[in-house]
Amino acid sequence: MRVLLVEDDELLGDGVHTGLQQEGYTVDWLRDGREAAQALQTEHFDLIILDIGLPRMSGLNVLADLRSRGSQTPVLILTARDTVEDRIRGLDSGADDYLTKPFDLDELYARLRALQRRTSSQTTHIINYQNIKLDTASHTVTLDGNLVNMSRREFALLHKLLQNAGRVHSREQLAQTLYGWGDEIDSNALEVHIHNLRKKLGTKLIRTIRGIGYMIEKESSTTDDN
Ligand code: CA
Repeated sequence: MRVLLVEDDELLGDGVHTGLQQEGYTVDWLRDGREAAQALQTEHFDLIILDIGLPRMSGLNVLADLRSRGSQTPVLILTARDTVEDRIRGLDSGADDYLTKPFDLDELYARLRALQRRTSSQTTHIINYQNIKLDTASHTVTLDGNLVNMSRREFALLHKLLQNAGRVHSREQLAQTLYGWGDEIDSNALEVHIHNLRKKLGTKLIRTIRGIGYMIEKESSTTDDN
């Protein structure tokens, strides 16, 4: 899950950045509205945390710009205390949720999980797929009820593929989910993660779509016995 954090307050930004990384998110942090708007034109993010008061371009304008291009990426705006107008304008401009500063990090995590669910068909923090259960709150995966050890990136990759079962993801999209700017990426890093997931969860789970990328098949509603 790749998150863009746009916040010019160093202390707050640092806390959120570190906290989200510990929660298993890939986080890119920008402190400037115009840079954020530019990044959003070329990069894919799964979630955006957007401060309103930013240098060079306000968060509301960044948001308006994003929505005017038809992007539906979930956006949570951060507003200062007592600025009801900002919140209303933010929601009217296409924000999906907001938090008022100061806020509790646990509340931020819970809201981000809710936003992720809203954009998929998921209704709880647990994804059940065949004999696999992935818990986005505790960051655990079980196979037939047994806990499976997973690296942060393996978990993120599995989450992305399960959440969008039935959809083919290009290598590039998946790599963007796993790596932020400045992260060292081996050219075959993605293949290594896929390989590890197959080893842990079975070789049939993730399909390779030749020349494009990877997918997990949509779970059929009727159970067939194979
Ligand atoms: Ca600010």
